[in-house]
Amino acid sequence: MQAKEEIMSLDKSQIIAIIGAGAMGAGIAQVTAIAGHKILLNDIDVEAAKNALKSIEKRILRLVEKGRLSDIAAQSAIANLNVASNLAELAPAKLVVEAAVERLDIKRDIFKQLENICSDDTILSTNTSSLSINSIASGMTRPQNIVGLHFFNPAPIMKLVEIVSGLETDPKIAETLYNTAKAWGKIPVHAKSTPGFIVNRVARSFYGEALNVLGENAASAATIDCLLKSCGGFRMGPIELVDLIGHDVNYAVSCSVYDAYYQDARFKPSLLQKALVDSGRLGRKSGHGFYKYGADVKQAEAEIAKPQEAPIKFRAYATRSFNHNMLPLLQKCDIEMELVEDQSKRGLVLPCGVHVLFTRGKLATEEAQLINAPVVLMDLSSDYVNCSHIAIAASDDCSIDQLNQVTGLLQKLGKKVCVIDDIAGMIVMRSIAMLANEAADAVNQNVASVKDVDLAMKNGVNYPKGPLEWADEIGIAYLVNVLRNIETVYGETRYRVSPLMQRKALAGAKFYD
Ligand code: NAD
Repeated sequence: MQAKEEIMSLDKSQIIAIIGAGAMGAGIAQVTAIAGHKILLNDIDVEAAKNALKSIEKRILRLVEKGRLSDIAAQSAIANLNVASNLAELAPAKLVVEAAVERLDIKRDIFKQLENICSDDTILSTNTSSLSINSIASGMTRPQNIVGLHFFNPAPIMKLVEIVSGLETDPKIAETLYNTAKAWGKIPVHAKSTPGFIVNRVARSFYGEALNVLGENAASAATIDCLLKSCGGFRMGPIELVDLIGHDVNYAVSCSVYDAYYQDARFKPSLLQKALVDSGRLGRKSGHGFYKYGADVKQAEAEIAKPQEAPIKFRAYATRSFNHNMLPLLQKCDIEMELVEDQSKRGLVLPCGVHVLFTRGKLATEEAQLINAPVVLMDLSSDYVNCSHIAIAASDDCSIDQLNQVTGLLQKLGKKVCVIDDIAGMIVMRSIAMLANEAADAVNQNVASVKDVDLAMKNGVNYPKGPLEWADEIGIAYLVNVLRNIETVYGETRYRVSPLMQRKALAGAKFYD
């Protein structure tokens, strides 16, 4: 048997050329110069490249001030940085990282020229976020040398690098870049060239579901953000995040991914977001998106229920999921609890007759019809014991008094309660279910491995958990059921279940066995 060839990272003595000295090019130059490579930074605007060099130097010196880099390492990184005033000067590079504007014609033109300038074994990589590696490589003399090297913004801080292979990319080149990115201190993942690669594809659900909830007026922007932070563990809520990214940018990416997937409902852009773009409310940068910004603007807050009286007692059905999630919390509160071991029943029952159930994707109003009693649904939390907030939604036949008693009970457990409208899958559950579903489809369609999809979402957009780890934790079969129930309510193929999720659920398997 032939031994597997060991693929090495690029040697530090090898020169790296960077084309485009904007936000990304400058960030990549900083990373690679600190890693020890001689850098040739080129921009169509030579002054822009010179200015970028100055600001990179300043940033490197600031790292020394903060104690993150030694003086010697900083001086050698700064000495590594050079401006190349034309493409011909890039001839000695072993790796080119193209980070010019996001236009196919411009990128193709750059690579066509480079094929005549650089040597046959120069790796020609692009930092494109949305263009196909196949389209960039098509018609080139050496398409096997062309590969995506997708850094995230800001490149010196964000750990993830997606190594994106087109149909013609030489796997050894992708592996070389994988190992090289690792040597730079990055977290690389392999991805096939498909629209959005991993992160910009899977993350669409995070924005999309929040915008849909907002579109149905089921909760305020601040409530949605608060719940996904408190119960989902996300660093930023999806609405504040799209305000930060800018609605023009986020909407354009959504439209491009939607079109690239032949208008698959999974990626349908939001009309609400289009309205913001049309009206020039672009988010933080224009002073107004979903939120208003400015020194004298009061920050919007989640809508929290007023204090209510808790019931004097309640009955709890000790189902497995219930035990796992809520029992430690309920046992600590000083309300009389009758614990009933009956696996055929779910949730809690209060003396006023209202049932409190965990969402499984159905409307509260349907759950109420199924058990012939008013229902209050509780949303998902990845940590019921420690989360500060919890969302609930009442069935249409639930009275205000009954809703107030449930609110009072949860307040007694130390939670701030957000009452949202009765929508299928609520907010946190549908967001996580959709993220896991999209992540599973990316794996199913051979875009990336289970491990790489999770790594990408944790390190490219700072998710607290990989969507597939999350699916294992919640239970894949449970999520399949949630998605099917949501799909029934909306009648949209957006919520169709990934075949891989279905298989795992049927086999009782996990993503990480
Ligand atoms: P930017 O607008 O900040 O910078 C682009 C630079 O490219 C400019 O300095 C411009 O003068 C230069 N340029 C334009 N045409 C050129 C040419 N023909 N030759 C050489 N230089 C040329 O853009 P950016 O945000 O740094 O994005 C660069 C690339 O990185 C794009 O492909 C973008 O999609 C991708 N990207 C951007 C982000 C982000 O968040 N900004 C994240 C990941 C990837």
